[in-house]
Order: sequence, then C-alpha cells, then structure tokens
Amino acid sequence: LLGADGVSKPTVFEELTALANQHGAINLGQGFPDTDGPEHLKEIAAGSIRAGFDDGGLNQYAPGLGLPALRAAIAEHQRRFYGHDLDPARNVLVTTGATEGIAAAIMALVSPGERVVTLSPFYDSYAAMIGLAGAEHVTVPLTWPDFAPDDADLDAAIAPGTRLVVLNTPHNPTGTALSRATLERIVARAGEVGALILSDEVYEHLVFDGPHLPVASIPGAAERTLTLGSAGKTFSLTGWKVGWATGPADLVTAVRSVKQFLTYSSGGPFQAAVAEGLRYDDSFFRAQAERLKAGRDVLVTALRAAGLQVSTPAAGYFAIADVAPLGFNDAAALAYRLPAELGVGAIPVSAFVRPHEADRYKSLLRFAFCKREPVLNDAAARLLRLPE
Ligand code: PMP
Ligand code: GLN
Repeated sequence: LLGADGVSKPTVFEELTALANQHGAINLGQGFPDTDGPEHLKEIAAGSIRAGFDDGGLNQYAPGLGLPALRAAIAEHQRRFYGHDLDPARNVLVTTGATEGIAAAIMALVSPGERVVTLSPFYDSYAAMIGLAGAEHVTVPLTWPDFAPDDADLDAAIAPGTRLVVLNTPHNPTGTALSRATLERIVARAGEVGALILSDEVYEHLVFDGPHLPVASIPGAAERTLTLGSAGKTFSLTGWKVGWATGPADLVTAVRSVKQFLTYSSGGPFQAAVAEGLRYDDSFFRAQAERLKAGRDVLVTALRAAGLQVSTPAAGYFAIADVAPLGFNDAAALAYRLPAELGVGAIPVSAFVRPHEADRYKSLLRFAFCKREPVLNDAAARLLRLPE
C-alpha cells in the first residue's frame, strides 16, 4: 500500500540517521543543516513564547488558516519574487511543514482509485500519501545523469483520467530544476486531461544559478496549481515545521478542510518569526543559495576525487553519486556499511522509488551538502578511503 518505505518501519531518513549516530558518523544522509537559521528569528519565536496571553504571547492555538501576519507575509513574498497575486484570506494556508501540505493536499484532492502522477525518484512521503489515499501511483522516470524527464514519458503518464500531477522543483533527491519547456509541456498536458497540479517548491530559494521558476508562473498553470513552500529550507530551521500552501481559493479551502482534522494548527511562535523572515531583503535569500552552492562545490569535488561519478545539482541540499565506477553495484548495501566503515552517512536513491523501479537506480547514493565546510571536508577525506 505505502510504496517506497511503508509505515510499519521508520523512514529511511530516521533509520540511517540512527545508524550514523550509533557510529558517530558524519551524517550526509538526512537533509538538515548543521547551523541554525537567523538568531533574530529565534529571538522572535522565544519572545512569543515568553510573553503571556495578555501581552501578545502566542502559546495558545493559532488560527486554523495560520497567523494573519504570516499569511500576509507569504502573499507578499509570492508577489515580490514571482509576481503572483494572492489574497492572504483566500489563497494562503499555513501548514505544519510542507509534509502536512503534501498529506492534506493529496487527501483533499484525490479519491480512491484515481490516477496520480509523480516524477521518479520522488520525495518519499508522496508514495506513502498516494497509497493512504488509495490512489493509483504512476511515475515518470528521471534518468541519470541529467535527470530531465522525457516528453513522451510525460505525455504517456499524464493520461486522460489523471487527477493530480505532483511536481517537485527544485527536486529532491536529484537537485534538478525542471526547465521552462518541461513545465510548459506538463501544464499543457494537465490542462488537456483536466488534472490538477501539486507543486512542491520547498527548495525555491536554494537555486544556485538563476532564478527559481515556479510552476504557477507558467501560462495556464495558476488556476490548477497548488504550490507548497517551507520555512525549514528557506531559513535553515527544519525542526520548526512551518510550511504553506498557496493557490486558487477552492483548492486552498479543500486542503484546509483536511488540515483542520490533521493538526488544526501548530507552532504559533514559529509562525510569528517566519512572518518576519519572509520580509528580509533579497540579499538574505541570495546569501542562502550562495552558501549552499559553496557546499555543493566542496562535496561534488570531493566525491569526484574519490572516484565517483557525480551529477552536478542545480539546487537544493543534495548531490547524487554513482558508485559503480568503484566496483559497487548495490548502493543500498553500501549505505548501510558506510557509517561503520568510513564514518559517513548517505541515502540510497532506491529509497526514493517504488520497489519495482529500484534496479534503475541501484548504484546511486544521495549525499547532503547542507553542512559546514570543515564537516564536508572531513567527510571528503573519509570518502577517499572508500572500501573495496
Ligand atoms: N518536500 C520535499 C521535496 C522535501 O525535501 C522535504 C523535506 N526535506 C519536504 C517536502 C518536507 O518539508 P517540511 O520539513 O517543511 O515538512
Ligand atoms: N526531507 C529530508 C530529506 O530528504 C528529510 C525529512 C525527513 O526526515 N522526513 O532528507
């Protein structure tokens, strides 16, 4: 039912993080930064916790749609960066991380037996939620090393009867940003068959060269696209779990109707801080991408020096390496050996596909570079001693 990971065991991220911790390994598996986002935001959240109820404290339920100040800041952010015109009261919903946005959107928009298309590999929660919704999961393969989908595969997958196309750009785990031509093709095809689009854009501010292209900016997309964002990625505060969904009022209302019974609302003090963060100057957002790009360059260079083939990611937290040139053909088995043998953690790409597609990605490992440079250099030195 649940595709890649199932619910009866921990996610691959949890499992390999635990293994890395057990061996004191450098964890380049689960994607989280090893430096927190702005102190200023932490102070705002702390102040909202310290203040009492009568002094503007935010320790009681936040509104179901999210704090008005955050919804306004999200609408302003979408206008500033993308020129999108959103009404904070109708087109914006705050979620408990993008994870809840994914869950609530799929549950709200998809009925049992309906067809949902994703790229493959995919972020693991998509398959789990499509399975829980009882829907049919159809995938479009992204192929090593450029991970761009093929037009014919897209057309075939987004067939008549498709209810939802789940996109993720920039993409986890491959670091690909979908091209304008690809997005135009997907949007046109979705229009032809009457499908909705759920676009997970949590890495929107971590694009290394050139601006992020939101799906909702493609002509014809806005009226059928629900877009997801996350403060976790943008502000290096992944534990805060503040995300948002934006789009047409009817889609936002549908997602809210599910979200209200999942968590109702969460994290008032964090929401207040994120509202301030979204108003930071453009230079703050550019600096995040620059920092990550430097990390990417350190890691990619190191992996190549270790004899691996590496696809250069355009965005995000992760780089994919092929371990076949070193004589390994089972990256999953290697991922379970690396923490003990080298003191480095990574995630096999096969964890991001359905079991019957795993062979295609068998020799690929995903490494996170959202870490401090000395940590990446230390990991790089260890990787030079890759086992036989
Ligand atoms: N979507 C993608 C593509 C992700 O990589 C992640 C987390 N890394 C999420 C959603 C979840 O985001 P959040 O932590 O805001 O729930
Ligand atoms: N999104 C993070 C990753 O891809 C992990 C999040 C999680 O552990 N669920 O590594």
